[in-house]
Amino acid sequence: MKVAVLPGDGVGREIVPEAVKVLKAVSNGRFELELEYGAIGMSGVEATGKPLPDETLAMAQRCDAILFGSVGGPEYEQWLRKNKVRSGLLQLRRTLGLNANLRPVRPIRELASVSTLKPEVIDGLDMLIVRELSSDIYFGEPRGPVESANGERESINTMRYRESEVRAIAHVAFKAAQQRNRRVCSVDKANVLETMQLWRDVMTEVGREYPDVELTHLYIDAAAMALLRTPTRFDVIVTGNMFGDILSDEAAMLAGSLGMMPSASLAPGGKGLYEPIHGSAPDIAGRDIANPLATILSAAMLLRYTLKRETEAVLVEEAVRRVVAAGTRTGDIMETGCTQVGTRAMGDAVVAALAG
Ligand code: NAD
Repeated sequence: MKVAVLPGDGVGREIVPEAVKVLKAVSNGRFELELEYGAIGMSGVEATGKPLPDETLAMAQRCDAILFGSVGGPEYEQWLRKNKVRSGLLQLRRTLGLNANLRPVRPIRELASVSTLKPEVIDGLDMLIVRELSSDIYFGEPRGPVESANGERESINTMRYRESEVRAIAHVAFKAAQQRNRRVCSVDKANVLETMQLWRDVMTEVGREYPDVELTHLYIDAAAMALLRTPTRFDVIVTGNMFGDILSDEAAMLAGSLGMMPSASLAPGGKGLYEPIHGSAPDIAGRDIANPLATILSAAMLLRYTLKRETEAVLVEEAVRRVVAAGTRTGDIMETGCTQVGTRAMGDAVVAALAG
């Protein structure tokens, strides 16, 4: 099994080594794991002048899976804007055909009081957000930078979906629901946007192929509200790239912190990129205080989805739960009576829990 390790920028460089420690510990004596390291994001620019260096892309293509940290920061954003280049991560997702982003939201019971919602509202919450990742307004053409037109600045982006793209993500969502509680809620804005009318029509058509799964539809504004009001009503939420981006950050707050939310981006062939949903967190980078658990839980998804190592995936998830339940916490999930630790100590605690 070959895994490309791309820490990226900011806290990515601190949290990915902790997930690697955990992967090495859980694979030890069970299966061979070959790791290759590459640069991406501002680290890629600094090393090669490109946010997605050719060597990194080649490595990602030949490996079975990719463990990713984060890219970003003010310097990187400025560089991309100045050079009119797309983010290395967007290029990578596009080139590898990573069209389905899976974001499970299953808060750890012992962290219930860290959430800003009442514990009874999130009690029993177990949902999966399936976000389309390769299309929508993030990729639609025409698009254009800010330009002067008729005496003022103007810019354009295009929300565009092809039927085949919606169909592909619909199948991912319905198949996932068959393994869960057989309910799919498709989120769109079909009352206003033609693109989203297409989305709803295709979802409905594909839904007929899965008579054992209940399909409902919600507009994005209603879904954003329902997620806070009655989150446990959801099983699988399927939505477009932009709406999924926003909804899944909202859902992260149900789990207490962005630092607890893993994700998997999968290509139809089975290749996957695994990353926390948060960014490079420049405000806390380099201080050994970032929470590595979202990345460690992403490594568990890597074990489950690409390496087909369900037993080891559960071992990692259970180790994380035990560490948190024992009161070992990074600052973002700290509570009275718990012990605050840094990024590295949290990684060590998970490795120790795996051994124990
Ligand atoms: P962010 O997710 O980096 O941070 C938002 C807030 O959450 C910050 O206060 C941060 O300190 C906190 N946070 C994030 N991860 C944490 C962790 N592991 N532990 C504890 N606290 C954590 O979002 P942002 O500040 O809006 O973006 C920063 C940069 O990251 C931007 O350049 C953005 O484009 C980029 N970004 C990258 C990705 C990615 O690589 N997939 C995703 C989102 C944002």
